[in-house]
Amino acid sequence: MDIILHQILWNYFGQMMGGNKMSITKERKELLVKQLLVMINENPDREGLVGTPDRVVRMWDEIFKGYKKENEPKVTVFNNGHDGIIYDEMITDSGDFYSHCEHHMVPFYGKYFFSYIPHPKGKLLGLSKVARVVDYFSAKLQVQERLTHEIINYLWSTLCDKTVCKYPPIAMGLRMEAEHLCKTMRGVKKKGKMTTTQLFGEFKTHDITRQEFLNWVNKNV
Ligand code: ZN
Repeated sequence: MDIILHQILWNYFGQMMGGNKMSITKERKELLVKQLLVMINENPDREGLVGTPDRVVRMWDEIFKGYKKENEPKVTVFNNGHDGIIYDEMITDSGDFYSHCEHHMVPFYGKYFFSYIPHPKGKLLGLSKVARVVDYFSAKLQVQERLTHEIINYLWSTLCDKTVCKYPPIAMGLRMEAEHLCKTMRGVKKKGKMTTTQLFGEFKTHDITRQEFLNWVNKNV
């Protein structure tokens, strides 16, 4: 039933926008933004708003780039030991991220904390690419749980091919902490902070290793 309904809606809006998703022209997109302005009781023709549809369309192209497969980042991997050192301790990366909640289309944003312990005979991640992976999966409508899941699964499968993986990482973990504007700026205006965590390998199964990860996160929050 859902599929049929989706099809009807898609056909309806698809026609409205000129046939299919690919053929939505920039003018059509701008027209849709104008309609949104009318919807919130604005006058899209007043001076201050004349350039707004153009700006919104261009900004959405950027902040929702995660829908396009061609924007998927290529993550470099190295053989552990390639530089003469075998890494078998925690390797970490953290930074900021910005996404949009799929229920209200307003931002949620905060910090991510990523860490893994490589297998001595396995692969290493080009760590500078982690931020790009976070950016890519953040750049669409999301829920924080799924975002966390998508990022860590992508990084795990970069190091460990799904079909053959002799030397998976010893452990991998990702924690995301974010403020959700749909909670903070409306209704009861409560701080909308949310934390999601996903752990693989020894971060999940070994208390001491997990504690090491959590200690690092807590020190950097
Ligand atoms: Zn929301």
